[in-house]
Amino acid sequence: MIPNVPIRNTILSRNELGRFFIDQNCAGCKNCFSLAPSNIEFISMAKRCSVVLQPMSDEELAILNKAYQQCPQHAFHDKADVLVEGMD
Ligand code: SF4
Repeated sequence: MIPNVPIRNTILSRNELGRFFIDQNCAGCKNCFSLAPSNIEFISMAKRCSVVLQPMSDEELAILNKAYQQCPQHAFHDKADVLVEGMD
C-alpha cells in the first residue's frame, strides 16, 4: 500500500540533511542549480530544486553560499545564518 504522504513533505525530504536546504517557496527558476549542479537537483515534476549533496569542499561551500544569497524567493536556507540571526 502506498502511504498518503503530502507532495510538499516529499519534496522537503529530498534535501540531504545538513547546513543548506530549499523549502517549498522555491519557484524553480534554476538559478541555484545552474551555479551548483553537483549539489542541487531540479525536480522537474515538482518544478522545484533540492539540495541533494551538502558542500564537501571550501569551493562548494562558497558556491552554495552564493546560491543562498542570490535566491530571489528566499527559499534557499543556510542553517548557519539562522543560528546567527537567532542570537541577536
Ligand atoms: S534560486 Fe531559489 S527559487 Fe530559484 S530554483 Fe533555487 S531555490 Fe528555487
